[in-house]
Amino acid sequence: VDKQQEFVLRTIEERDVRFVRLWFTDVLGFLKSVAVAPAELENAFSEGIGFDGSSIEGFARVYEADMLAKPDPSTFQILPWRGHSPSTARMFCDILMPDGSPSYADPRYVLKRALGKAADLGFTFYTHPEIEFFLFKKLPEEGESPVPIDHSGYFDHTPHGRSQDFRREAITMLESMGISVEFSHHEGAPGQQEIDLRYADALTTADNIMTFRVVVKEVALTQGLYASFMPKPFAQWPGSAMHTHMSLFEGDRNAFYDAGAEYHLSKLARSFIAGLLRHAAEITAVTCQWVNSYKRLWGGGEAPAYICWGHNNRSALVRVPMYKPQKGQSTRIEFRSLDSAANPYLAYAVILAAGLKGIEEGYELPPGAEDDVWSLTEGERRALGIDPLPQNLDEAIRLMERSELVAETLGEQVFDFFLRNKRSEWAEYRRQITPYELSRMLPVM
Ligand code: GLU
Ligand code: MG
Ligand code: MG
Repeated sequence: VDKQQEFVLRTIEERDVRFVRLWFTDVLGFLKSVAVAPAELENAFSEGIGFDGSSIEGFARVYEADMLAKPDPSTFQILPWRGHSPSTARMFCDILMPDGSPSYADPRYVLKRALGKAADLGFTFYTHPEIEFFLFKKLPEEGESPVPIDHSGYFDHTPHGRSQDFRREAITMLESMGISVEFSHHEGAPGQQEIDLRYADALTTADNIMTFRVVVKEVALTQGLYASFMPKPFAQWPGSAMHTHMSLFEGDRNAFYDAGAEYHLSKLARSFIAGLLRHAAEITAVTCQWVNSYKRLWGGGEAPAYICWGHNNRSALVRVPMYKPQKGQSTRIEFRSLDSAANPYLAYAVILAAGLKGIEEGYELPPGAEDDVWSLTEGERRALGIDPLPQNLDEAIRLMERSELVAETLGEQVFDFFLRNKRSEWAEYRRQITPYELSRMLPVM
């Protein structure tokens, strides 16, 4: 039993923890949980808890179903919404094969491998997400439209508003679980919220995002509301992004910072951005993984649809935020296509891989776009060399299929499963007859 494990076992006694939930994430980004009695923990730490991998999306085929979940003691937290004495705690798990080797199907391991590659080059990858989501009055019945909880917009503050009560409770809960929140506000659409987490290494961030989704949904239900991370619930309103700010550190030095360079962006940061741009299209199936994700990308509302970067340009895929001269350490870039319904482990893995490729190959950064790229004509964009992101899931899948970078980063098992799953999502969607078609066609044909 190591020190962290000892701490967990002691806390469980001191805090009267009766249930320990072991959490992990399937390939599509859904949280899975199995509760164990504290008496089982020592065994869980040394050997893992067995489960049927073939029942988890993307994990295993039926004839190789046995897998193990091994808790990571550094992620131990009490779940504040489950009450005290007795209390309930959780830990994130690594997924192992019966022989104890890591499972290639585990998204957490996919990200760990990508971070390991960055570490070999001397880098730590820091991320901070701005998570947008909607609050509805309830989960709509089939055929009903969702009803947002308010009519407010960007940064609005309404007396007695339910939004700020909601954010206050959610943030208090996140903080009590060790997840620091930096900013929060009402976003542009009715009922839409944004909560920004403090920067952390990308593995911690991905774990935090999984916890965030649970906390937000729990708090909403307690307040009689329904929270959703769906990328684009309304055609006429902006969708929900998960913009992520990122930087690479070498020890405690921000490797993206160069005091003498334009926007204080180091050569390394420029190559990283160049990597993001060059590989943006082929990683989009992972960063924007649902049919609905493309309604957001191509539906306006400040979502990026074109592959370019800009300084403080909100129509760009990669934005370099306005620099703060006194704070070289905070030099960073913001990646804006990612949406709130992505699998954060896989998304951060492919984003990092694209950026590192740019560094390894020494890609040159094309000139930045300082215009609103949405308002340019097709011809003007072509002249500037600005390509579109994939227009729909089908196109995104086709680009991913040919991507060595994505295949290598996800590993064969996740890559194959993901493509198969997404192809069948597209095939199902393609068969739908939508209200749009009926209302357009029936009156005239
Ligand atoms: N909700 C917008 C999107 O879908 C982003 C708004 C913002 O800039 O924060 O990308
Ligand atoms: Mg926002
Ligand atoms: Mg942003």
